[in-house]
Amino acid sequence: MKLILLDVDDTLYPKGAGPFNLVSGKIDEYVMSWCDIGIEETRTLRKRYVDTYGSTLGGLMRHHEVDPDDYLEKVHDVPVEDLLHRDERLKKIISGIGHDMVVFSNGSVDYVRRVLRSLDVIDLLGDLFTIEFMDYVPKPRVYPYRKLLELYGASPGECVLVDDRLPNVLTARDMGMKAVLVGADASIPGVAAIPDIYSVAEIAF
Ligand SMILES: [Mg+2]
Repeated sequence: MKLILLDVDDTLYPKGAGPFNLVSGKIDEYVMSWCDIGIEETRTLRKRYVDTYGSTLGGLMRHHEVDPDDYLEKVHDVPVEDLLHRDERLKKIISGIGHDMVVFSNGSVDYVRRVLRSLDVIDLLGDLFTIEFMDYVPKPRVYPYRKLLELYGASPGECVLVDDRLPNVLTARDMGMKAVLVGADASIPGVAAIPDIYSVAEIAF
């Protein structure tokens, strides 16, 4: 069997064209308000938490008693439907993949559903493995990859990760998965790079 793990943000739509940048702005707002600090301090804190715990949320849960569901709801409160629209070409590409697929995203399940609905591919991608199912430990940490493999009873050699972020792709590669980096022409050992998701058809899964 083959299992294709598909990232969402900046993978299923062109980098920077979608709501993802706005989510980052909302995270700044959340941290500033919750921790009562300014933007400079917020950036420093976010960087430290991402380096230490894999995400801003990880640090906020550990040190600031943040409720993850409240956080996820507020930071994903962005106008997804205004930014993303039905993409016939994407639908065709995803339909043509011809393997089992699971959406593997650090976003919240509600947010990811909105993105997939806006692109009109939600009917093609039924299985969603989002941050809630990762126990809030995001990619590129190994933990969510392992949890996903266990859930699907799959070995790394049966999996292909398609993602726009190099650290996420490198974790997959180092675990023995096939790794596809979207939106780059970089030449990295053990990583297949494609300029955009439409080129995924050229990958021999
Ligand atoms: Mg992404």
